[in-house]
Order: sequence, then structure tokens, then C-alpha cells
Amino acid sequence: MSLLLDAGISARATQERITSIGCSARPTAIFITHEHADHVQHVARVAQSSGAEVWINEGTRGACKGRTDGLKCRELGVESVRVGPMLVEPVVKPHDAAEPVAFLVHCGDATLGFFTDLGHVDATVGAAIRRCTAIIIEANHDSGMMEQGPYPPWLRARVGGLHGHMNNADAAQAIAQYANPHLRHLVLAHLSKENNSTELVRQAMIAALGSQSSFTRRLSMQDRATPLLDATGRVAVSAVG
Ligand SMILES: [Zn+2]
Ligand SMILES: [Zn+2]
Repeated sequence: MSLLLDAGISARATQERITSIGCSARPTAIFITHEHADHVQHVARVAQSSGAEVWINEGTRGACKGRTDGLKCRELGVESVRVGPMLVEPVVKPHDAAEPVAFLVHCGDATLGFFTDLGHVDATVGAAIRRCTAIIIEANHDSGMMEQGPYPPWLRARVGGLHGHMNNADAAQAIAQYANPHLRHLVLAHLSKENNSTELVRQAMIAALGSQSSFTRRLSMQDRATPLLDATGRVAVSAVG
């Protein structure tokens, strides 16, 4: 039994990356966070090739420009959805999309939080972070690098705004402020190619969390899967896109 959260890379690349980390499972269900292309553009082929059912809320589906046409979609509401032993809980998040959500995936004692794309950490998201034993959160950009970078002012304002994307320092601060002592794994994801570097993410994490912590820290790169993480002994997690 496995879940896929978002479908922004091709069906072939998705399956290749799942295989590259030693998994053979095809996703049983796909849950969509919001309608931006890098999260939903390949949902039709991924769903058709895997046979997975697609869970998507009404606002996101309406804003998807027909990408889910012809698919048998299940309507995601505010209630949690059970998929085998897993319970998927939508969490409303601030982002410039129609009805964006983060997800908590509960299984046994484990709770994975999936927090991209995120303008800022509000009280709802902070409370969700507090419940996690594994977290995938975006560290999208370094504010100073974006200021000097190629983006025009309107785009800098959008990305850096309260409904845009999290910068490295804010992501690190959110973990320092909200993570609970049972957190086992932290994955920093959705790094901007233009406005970030792995070294800047590392420096921001060390500044907020120190160089040692009781949980593992990893970076998710856009061109490959992250190694499989064991969130409890029973639940495995990877970021494939
Ligand atoms: Zn987005
Ligand atoms: Zn995105």
C-alpha cells in the first residue's frame, strides 16, 4: 500500500524514481495539494498507468484547467481519508492557489507532514508541524540571493509574500519553534534553482537548529529521489520529485 502526494513529474520518471529507492509498489492513491503545474501536470498519466485513485478538493479541481478530465476523482473535503492502514488529513495552508492544502499522513505512531508550497507558517500549519514524526517542508529560497537574482520585482514579491514560498530561514525557524521531541526525520524540499543552494539551506538550518539534532536532516533535489526514510519502523517515506 503506498500513497503519492502530488504528480508533477511524468509517469515514467515517477516510477523510475520509486524503483531507484528499492520500492516496487505502484501508488494506490494520489492526493493533490494544489493546482500549480509542478504539482499536478502529470496526474492523468500517473493515475492511468498506476490505477491509483485521485483525491482532490473542489477548488483545486476547478482550477486545474481540465487536467483531471476523464479521471475518476474522489472529492477531498475537510475530513481525513483512510487508505488501508494510513489516514490522510488535509491541512489548510497559505499559498496563492484556489484551495491549497498540506497533508498529514498518520499510520500507527507515525505522522508524516508534507508542507510545500507554503507562504508562511500560520497557527494551523504550526499545530500540524507539532504533530509530526517526519516532515517534508519547503526551503524554497534564500532571501538575499533572490534579491540579487534574475526574478523581476513582481515575481520576487509573489514568491517572498505571505502566500508565496518559504525562505530557508523561515523554514528553519518553523522547525525550531514547532517540531516536537519525537521528530525523527526532516527533509528540506522544493529548493529554487535560481534563488537557492544546498549550502545556503544547510547554513540556515545550522543557524536555527545548531549542527546537531535528534532527527536526521536531508535535502530533496529536483532531479532524483531522496533515499527512503523509515518514519517508525513501519512507514517509509521518500520525496521523488
Ligand atoms: Zn504552488
Ligand atoms: Zn510548487
